[in-house]
Amino acid sequence: MSVEEHLILGSIDQFLERDVRPHVKKLEHADEYPADIADKMAEIGLFGATISPDYGGLGLSASTYVKIVERVSAVWMSVSGIFNSHLIMCAAVERFGSEEMKSKYLPKFAAGEMRGGIALTESDCGTDLQSVRTRANLEGNTYLINGSKMWITNSIRGNVLAILAKTDPEAEPRYKGMSLFLVEKEMGYTTTKLSKLGYRGIDTGEVRLDGVRVPIANLIGAEEGRGLQQILAGLELGRINVAARGVGVARAALDDSVLYAQSRRTFGKPIAEHQSIQIKLADMVTRVEGARLLVDQAARVYDQGQRCDMEAGIAKLFATEAAMENAAEAMRIHGAYGYSPEYDIERYYRDAPLLCIGEGTNELQRLIIARQLVERNPL
Ligand SMILES: Cc1cc2nc3c(=O)[nH]c(=O)nc-3n(C[C@H](O)[C@H](O)[C@H](O)COP(=O)(O)OP(=O)(O)OC[C@H]3O[C@@H](n4cnc5c(N)ncnc54)[C@H](O)[C@@H]3O)c2cc1C
Repeated sequence: MSVEEHLILGSIDQFLERDVRPHVKKLEHADEYPADIADKMAEIGLFGATISPDYGGLGLSASTYVKIVERVSAVWMSVSGIFNSHLIMCAAVERFGSEEMKSKYLPKFAAGEMRGGIALTESDCGTDLQSVRTRANLEGNTYLINGSKMWITNSIRGNVLAILAKTDPEAEPRYKGMSLFLVEKEMGYTTTKLSKLGYRGIDTGEVRLDGVRVPIANLIGAEEGRGLQQILAGLELGRINVAARGVGVARAALDDSVLYAQSRRTFGKPIAEHQSIQIKLADMVTRVEGARLLVDQAARVYDQGQRCDMEAGIAKLFATEAAMENAAEAMRIHGAYGYSPEYDIERYYRDAPLLCIGEGTNELQRLIIARQLVERNPL
């Protein structure tokens, strides 16, 4: 680990223990947005973690970034969503936006003055993004956008979104008719908060775009028809970070279980001395260590600038299923206390399933992995 990485991770640990951990239970159970935590995140530069220093960001590699995401998610997964979705939007702008767009927006994104996310999913399509119905029509030098988006992270408290819309509904193949727009809230979209099983505190909303006028300069990239490829490129980083969240949740469930198993006694000894509990702990730590290695590998390939959808998919699949399994095992190890809101286990149990759904479901990851596997191994 470099000195720089050591210092960054040290300041993240300090932030988590001082500003996050003491407040998690209250905010999570009240489903209250952690506004003070988000402000602290801006102070330590998290909103610009992967944005280039040329635009005011920290310019961190994916390999360092995943270590931050694991740490944050082990304390409260919702906090990682506040900057992860934002950074996927930033990556799309930095990779594909014009110089004018980059210098106008990226410094504000990096400072956390403007915060946002990505708006792809609609009420009747998530995995099959080529079916989106939100329309963007060019009229003079503005696009008129009509439609709605569903389950959008950071849409209520944030003030900007990268929105995927159809610019040519007749295009064949369908992805050639899709474009990505950077849309500020003050351009006119409205939002409604949605309630959820877990991932509470962070805002998830329905977004309505009724005749929203967006300047032509806010089309990401120089031409229409590139939106799906642009956002899929950003989703590689998104999937690696969801995988890192999985490692964080799986580790938190393990750490709590290791402590509890030593203090809870049955039949005259700590439950950690019962073989059936030992087997659970051994499987849990094996999942954590394996998942972390896969996440590191995917991040390394991403940092080398190589195509990494297979590595990101494998890491996402394994680490998020590890989070699900470890949360369920932690619940069993804690017995009735695992079911109580006094402990964190029930939160891990409610948070973990989202990881198997978001940034491409695990069913979709299996398809991506298999297709890539065959493509990389031709006859
Ligand atoms: C809390 C939360 C936050 C979210 N944040 C965002 C956000 O910020 N931005 C955003 O755009 N979206 C967001 N989403 C939406 C999320 O990305 C989608 O829910 C996800 O992509 C799945 O889409 P869907 O729910 O429409 O399921 P569907 O696409 O309807 O899939 C239903 C089921 O069918 C399976 N399936 C679908 N197609 C196939 C296939 N070809 N082969 C095999 N199985 C298949 C799926 O794996 C799944 O099991 C969020 C969702 C939640 C719950």
